[in-house]
Amino acid sequence: MQSIRCAKCSRWLTVAERAHPCPRCGGLERITFDKNQAVVEEKAEVAKTLARKHFSAERGLQRIIRLTGTAEVESIPVEPIKLLEVNTNTVPSGVLPVSFGPAPASGIPYPSVIVEVSPEEFAKIQSQELKLPSGWSMGEELPKPLEILEQE
Ligand SMILES: [Zn+2]
Repeated sequence: MQSIRCAKCSRWLTVAERAHPCPRCGGLERITFDKNQAVVEEKAEVAKTLARKHFSAERGLQRIIRLTGTAEVESIPVEPIKLLEVNTNTVPSGVLPVSFGPAPASGIPYPSVIVEVSPEEFAKIQSQELKLPSGWSMGEELPKPLEILEQE
């Protein structure tokens, strides 16, 4: 499968959008990815960037764990990066995925979904008392960056 994005603003383009100027910036130049693997690798990097941003913005954040679907799903560019965030400052409200659009200017060219839970809810997810959305499972943990740990 070939994936195509706008060379100017990094927006991923659907098949229908490829024949027209980029819906976001009007750009006409394209970058083509021949391998799904490129998407998977880039998402892993972007997930780390996102985690770093969130850790530095939110002091109550204890842990961030990637949530992933199947490898096939994760290689689709429009499939969001999904993070489970354990936050001591959050009001327990169950597993509520919140969607965010891509922010290429901030180095986040993919959409994201954040599920924020309290430490107690996280324990319930681990014991499967609380369920993650269907098809999602916990993947790698994105550790808190050293420079933030040092400020605590
Ligand atoms: Zn564009």
